[in-house]
Amino acid sequence: MKEEAGVQIEEKHDVLTQIREMVQACIQCGTCTGSCPNEFAMDVTPRRLWRMVLMGREEEIFHSKTFSLCSSCYYCTLRCPRGLPLTEAMGALKQIAAKQGLAKYRQSCLFYQNFMESVRRHGRVREMEFMTLYFSAMKNPTLPFRFAPLGMKLMRKGKVHIQIPSRGKGALNGIFRKAKELEARR
Ligand code: SF4
Ligand code: SF4
Repeated sequence: MKEEAGVQIEEKHDVLTQIREMVQACIQCGTCTGSCPNEFAMDVTPRRLWRMVLMGREEEIFHSKTFSLCSSCYYCTLRCPRGLPLTEAMGALKQIAAKQGLAKYRQSCLFYQNFMESVRRHGRVREMEFMTLYFSAMKNPTLPFRFAPLGMKLMRKGKVHIQIPSRGKGALNGIFRKAKELEARR
């Protein structure tokens, strides 16, 4: 065990090792928390989250919803006085949660995957198709009813249109394939 910025850091190799390396120079100044536009909705502040990473509190970290609420705006990364890759570290936590198939993050993972699937197929998201794919992946027959009032409102205003899901032209297939290759190398 070693000490950095007053924090006892466990040197064990675990699922958090890569993220711990990203934030090991954190001085706990709180600038990331003060800069984050989503902090109001987080149960653990970004500053505290990085402290928990340094302390190896894996269970508490993945019990928290903080990283899943990160919208990758990069404010914290730009303002961190130590120049730490905080947005990337938040993304790495999301990837671990997705890879481990944590039940708590299943909904947001499926939301993201089906959003990107629609973009891959058509080069942009087709809202109606995306929601159809998402509802079918969620396998929850009551879910569409929860979104129905909003969907009707948007349709009345001409913001969304009825669309039958299709395979599209896959114009972005090359980009998606390349991104997958890069991810696999990590
Ligand atoms: S802004 Fe940087 S140094 Fe300050 S608490 Fe956040 S991660 Fe640590
Ligand atoms: S990148 Fe994420 S954690 Fe950082 S300020 Fe933006 S929303 Fe908050």
